Amino acid sequence: MSLQPLMNTYNRLSVAFERGEGVWIYDTDGNRYLDALSGIAVTGLGHAHPAVTRAISDQASRLIHCSNLYTIPLQTQLAEKLTALSGMDNAFFANSGAEANEAAIKLARRYGHQKGIDTPTIIVMENAFHGRTLATLSATGNRAAQAGFEPLVSGFVRVPYDDVEAIRQVAAKNPNIVAILVEPVQGEGGVHIPAADYLNQLRAICDEHDWLLMLDEVQTGNGRTGRYFAYQHNNILPDVVTTAKGLANGVPIGACLARGEAAKLFTPGTHGTTYGGNPLACAAALAVIDTISAENLCQHADELGQYIVEQFRIQLGDQPYIREIRGKGLMIGIELTEAGSELAVLAKVKGVLMNVTGAGRVVRLLPPLIMSKNEADLMINTVSQLIRVYAGEERSA
Ligand SMILES: *Cc1c(COP(=O)(O)O)cnc(C)c1O
Repeated sequence: MSLQPLMNTYNRLSVAFERGEGVWIYDTDGNRYLDALSGIAVTGLGHAHPAVTRAISDQASRLIHCSNLYTIPLQTQLAEKLTALSGMDNAFFANSGAEANEAAIKLARRYGHQKGIDTPTIIVMENAFHGRTLATLSATGNRAAQAGFEPLVSGFVRVPYDDVEAIRQVAAKNPNIVAILVEPVQGEGGVHIPAADYLNQLRAICDEHDWLLMLDEVQTGNGRTGRYFAYQHNNILPDVVTTAKGLANGVPIGACLARGEAAKLFTPGTHGTTYGGNPLACAAALAVIDTISAENLCQHADELGQYIVEQFRIQLGDQPYIREIRGKGLMIGIELTEAGSELAVLAKVKGVLMNVTGAGRVVRLLPPLIMSKNEADLMINTVSQLIRVYAGEERSA
């Protein structure tokens, strides 16, 4: 038996893309698709944004990589921008979301050891997604993703998402807790938006117990929810923030930002990575941040997101197979009453890229922040019609 050259880790659709421009992406046969997924919340500025293209090509022609054994001025500049945007004190750069979260998990453990706790434990959530490395997989709340990879990393306790009382019960019983790690909106878990004051309550609990509040903004960061970071809807500051996905519009980079005590825990030799924060990735991220600010894209994402959710509610809200339509900025979920994973394939046929998550029940749209109202209307109409037809056929079948 001959094996395929790629390991069998993805269910891929049978389409290959060769170029993109703005919200549009073109396959190898020249067909055009409206990219309402942005490579899973990565290409927030759309494809081939001139500012990003210029930053990457200029930097590539000068210096791509030099190692963290040396000073990297672009990395320092990026840290300055991100700390100013986030209210954090400093930054560690990695190459992905999972690695940014690994840094956060290691910070929490060091924080615990510094307080004399030998088995520091982090509270994580049901349905959470934090990545695929062993520690982040252990923090992830999805048994199917963990199965077969045991033994998992210990030092996590799990509670239901958006349930403050459950955390208070753990606090009363477990003296080893040092941190809470949580997504401000659960993305992979199915676009779950917690109560408006959830993060404020978590901030208060962490203050009360001297725990670190660690927010996984890998998906929600970089303008996605209508603020640069989602916690900025709540007027709180976490102790640790991680981000990645939209940070450099597709050039791999992750960041772990920290404040106060958490910002002082790493010392030379305690953490590191070869590529993290290299000149190329930092140049791309700086161009993204400048563009988000120059084009006022956080506010645009906020307003367009509200419009999109309103329109979906008008078009689909009274349909019996729709359980809920929800969104925060341009992170939008349409929850169905039954699984509808085929919808991603059917949408592709109609010329729209989106995906279905949350156990196959939540149609997820993560359009680029640069999407215009006309493009949004096209997306809304195509996806609404598709769901109506699909649900109708399913029900009469
Ligand atoms: C995608 C994602 C990750 C993992 O990021 P990778 O770059 O795939 O390692 C972690 N946390 C959240 C919330 C994510 O959405």
